[in-house]
Amino acid sequence: MIPAISARLSAMTLLDKAASGNRLSPGEAEQLYHLPLFALAAAADAVRRQRTEPEVVTYLIDRNINYSNICNVGCSFCGFYRTRRQADSYVLSLAEISAKVRELEAVGGTRILMQGGVNPYLPFSWYLELLAHLKRQHPAIRIEAFSPEEIKGMAGLTGMTTFEVLKELQAAGLDGLPGGGGEILVDAVRKAKHISPARISADEWIGVMAEAQRLGLYTTATMVIGFGETFAERIASMKRVRDLQDAALATHGNGFSAFISWTLQSKGVRIEGKVPGAGAHEYLQNVAVSRLWLDNIVNFQASWPTMGYKVAQTALYFGANDFGSTMLEENVVSQAGAKHRHTPEREIVRQIVDAGFIPKQRDSLYRIVRTPDVAALLAAKPSIDFSSLPAIS
Ligand code: SF4
Repeated sequence: MIPAISARLSAMTLLDKAASGNRLSPGEAEQLYHLPLFALAAAADAVRRQRTEPEVVTYLIDRNINYSNICNVGCSFCGFYRTRRQADSYVLSLAEISAKVRELEAVGGTRILMQGGVNPYLPFSWYLELLAHLKRQHPAIRIEAFSPEEIKGMAGLTGMTTFEVLKELQAAGLDGLPGGGGEILVDAVRKAKHISPARISADEWIGVMAEAQRLGLYTTATMVIGFGETFAERIASMKRVRDLQDAALATHGNGFSAFISWTLQSKGVRIEGKVPGAGAHEYLQNVAVSRLWLDNIVNFQASWPTMGYKVAQTALYFGANDFGSTMLEENVVSQAGAKHRHTPEREIVRQIVDAGFIPKQRDSLYRIVRTPDVAALLAAKPSIDFSSLPAIS
């Protein structure tokens, strides 16, 4: 057979296999990156429509709260962290955090996502007190907080194991962990000298997530592309997630609720110019590959904060079924050039409708909590002007 025809046939066979939802081998998944973008999109969209409600795109009303920006890890891609000596370093008080949660409650929010740095000056009791305070003051709000890197930091500070740390935090009110710090789960990439040699290792990140899942805590998995990683390394990174998900579902049924990927944001940070980054084409390609490769995860988020609304809308045809969350306040990727810091509910709803889907508000467990009245929402004025929020400086 003529080589070109043979290659075309094998691409079609691979796409058919992927579109039917069959499990792919690492070699097959890597080949997906070499296929035409829109053929890949069609396969990913077919799988998304089999696994989630085809006409619906979900979203969450939540708020990110960055309780402190003091961190001793020093990732070269991070524009958020400060040392304690820097004039603009901060730790929010319990009252300041509570005030932010009250603003979230006022707009019907259901979750806070709390992350800071690895702050060696905060005692473990501070975290326990914070959780207990928030649960007392805001019992209806789910608290998803502290990425595996922060959990590891608390373990180092207290001498406890990460499992013991998680258990104490859970007893104090923690409901789940953000998926932050996934990036590329291959140490040769994540811990490279020009990226983040002090970063939590891939094994440790997976280990903390496995422990959290065993305790029944909510977790998500994240991925950042653009560090110069190879396609094989992207597949290997996602394989760590797929393997843990297999094990979690088989042993206790509590695995990752969602997978979220985006591109490296590097504007004005130390890594700028040292790695290739990734554009919209690569982002969409990776969303589609992740939908096809991670056959044991149901929900995939589009990332409007980093990619902008239009690319995020397009991702809804590349395998994503969720438009993420309002955030109300984002201070991490926005300090490395991300496009948006927050989006009010009516804007998220507008984006979903304009993309051709029915918007439904979900909670952080992906349960539908409300079908918004689109006409009323789009006509309404915002109850709080979030555009007036001061930037954390
Ligand atoms: S990404 Fe996280 S761990 Fe790395 S420097 Fe920033 S705050 Fe610290």
